[in-house]
Amino acid sequence: MTIEAIAERVRSGARIDAADALELYRRAPTPLLGRLADAVRARKHADGIVTYIIDRNVNYTNVCVAKCNFCAFYRPVGSSDGYVLGFDELFRKIDETIAVGGVQLLLQGGHNPDLPLTWYEDLFRAIKARYPAFKLHALSPPEVIHISRLSQLPVAAVIDRLIAAGLDSIPGGGAEILVDRVRRELHCHGKATADEWLDVMRHAHRAGLRTTATMMYGTVETDEERIEHLLRLRALQDETGGFTAFITWSYQPDHTELAGSEATGIEYLRTLAIARIVLDNFDNLQASWVTQGGKVGQLSLAYGANDMGSVMIEENVVRAAGASYCMDEAEIVRNIEDAGFAAKRRNMHYEILGDPIFRERDVPRMLELATARAEGDAGVPDELMKYPARSRSGKQLRVIPR
Ligand code: SF4
Repeated sequence: MTIEAIAERVRSGARIDAADALELYRRAPTPLLGRLADAVRARKHADGIVTYIIDRNVNYTNVCVAKCNFCAFYRPVGSSDGYVLGFDELFRKIDETIAVGGVQLLLQGGHNPDLPLTWYEDLFRAIKARYPAFKLHALSPPEVIHISRLSQLPVAAVIDRLIAAGLDSIPGGGAEILVDRVRRELHCHGKATADEWLDVMRHAHRAGLRTTATMMYGTVETDEERIEHLLRLRALQDETGGFTAFITWSYQPDHTELAGSEATGIEYLRTLAIARIVLDNFDNLQASWVTQGGKVGQLSLAYGANDMGSVMIEENVVRAAGASYCMDEAEIVRNIEDAGFAAKRRNMHYEILGDPIFRERDVPRMLELATARAEGDAGVPDELMKYPARSRSGKQLRVIPR
């Protein structure tokens, strides 16, 4: 099919297949790809609203046994730079988040062998007891699989227990590219195969959770594999309808073992646009300004995105790989309105909560990104000693009198 014939299919609202998606992605002029994606966005969001959420992106531990070669964030077990946040530290972060109008934590971390399922359950219960209305968008599929292996329980049972403890939604991290050839090359096949990642989401959706989906592109995958990733997500969404949103970002190479260079802004916009066109059963696409910067993030609104993601109060993972962009609510709203849209706050289900909160009341401006831990803070939370460790260094820590 010619580019124009495929474009006409997209304009008519028809679904496109892998071959047509690849042809568009590779050969359509960028302005045309943008116009097609923008038309799909406008069809789904005719109200001219662009949403965002006030939440905090917290990484509860950087200790990880997975060792993905694209990751600059993790520290091996026993590293002096490894940390686990204490419950009190997390409560303080939640207090700060609520002070700026925040409604949830995005809580993700490394695959730490010294954190059993009961640690997560106790943490979630403690958060819900103190902050009953606060939401937990927590533990990406590979973390759930890690906990399932550690506890020798099926994934579905782990999800049920986490839901009972207070889990509200699962973030779509760790998807990278859902093709096992790519996952093997990225050393992330062991943490979750493509099928295993999708299965966690399937179980979560069946258990009544809504989740997000992601794609990290720009490592070793081909264009065909990017399209295959999108089609696998589309197929699961056809089956369950459980995804609220899709987020894509480019691989951030600094300080990683894999190294290499970062995809350009145009490649990001083209990838976002093709995702909007292929993922015809996803309502929401986020702009990843955290990796692309505010200006490309704003341009995303012309390439299919209808959501600016989260204000950035704290960020650790992308920063470790060299990117450090910060926008508070006022700056996000300025970018949305300058692009010609109405800015509205939302919750994790993409329900509108209201107008920008800084227009309703005074909130502190957060113009500098917080970190999980202050540099050099090697503190070990007291409650951690209650939980059995699996690693040698974790066991040693528990016998040293403190
Ligand atoms: S990407 Fe996640 S699972 Fe992989 S090494 Fe980094 S922290 Fe661990």
